[in-house]
Amino acid sequence: MKILVAVKRVVDANIKVRVLSDETGIDMNDTKMALNPFCEIAVEEAIRLKESGSASEVIVVSIGPEKSQEQLRTALALGADRAILLQTDQVIEPLSVAKLLAKLVQEEQPELVILGKQSIDSDNNQTAQMLAALTGRPQGTFISQLSVDNSAIHITREVDNGLQKLSLQLPAVVSVDLRLNEPRFASLPSIMKAKRKPIDRRSAESFGIDLSPRIKHLKITTPAERKSGQLVASVAELVGKLKLEAEVI
Ligand code: AMP
Repeated sequence: MKILVAVKRVVDANIKVRVLSDETGIDMNDTKMALNPFCEIAVEEAIRLKESGSASEVIVVSIGPEKSQEQLRTALALGADRAILLQTDQVIEPLSVAKLLAKLVQEEQPELVILGKQSIDSDNNQTAQMLAALTGRPQGTFISQLSVDNSAIHITREVDNGLQKLSLQLPAVVSVDLRLNEPRFASLPSIMKAKRKPIDRRSAESFGIDLSPRIKHLKITTPAERKSGQLVASVAELVGKLKLEAEVI
């Protein structure tokens, strides 16, 4: 089974971002970037499937600036076999990402496509669903368990009212949730080995898809400061404060 994993370059989750004073965006100067955490989980799952003999090849793909090669190298160091960069300096929205991925799916014919459930920078939670619709493949979103059995996968989805178990016929598209696995760290030898693994670089614009944005950001502002919390000695005191001070009950 061939697996395609979509990985995105995002601002490192441990960085506190700074909003530009003119409120047009985030200050990206010298900002530390990383592999989107949900994409790390997607890569880990694909590698585990390869290690268990269920997958034969793991391909990682990223759509973004030239520097996205850094995140592709990380995925290669974690164990992916090869990488594809669809290079563009435009800000790419989920529908354009899904359309580009659909073209790659047509070309590579992976039995399974694994994505993160969301990008932590834009929090869209849209790409996997759009890709499944565009390719006509069954989809399983927010998965916390996955097993493969010949021509099907069995998944557990984390949904609002609990866990949902489904079987999907392959080829399929899934998006991964936090509890699916704990990603490994890349070892130094694998980081060195990853430098020799191939990255196929192509221009995203060469696919003939209209990549122009459909969403207009009016302004981006810093969230209001949260007031510090208070420790209370008893439930009675808490209820009193909620009634008289916060006036929420
Ligand atoms: P989103 O719909 O933007 O929240 O992203 C969900 C998932 O889609 C991410 O975790 C990635 O697996 C994939 N994805 C989104 N944007 C990109 C991108 N620019 N390049 C590669 N994969 C992406």
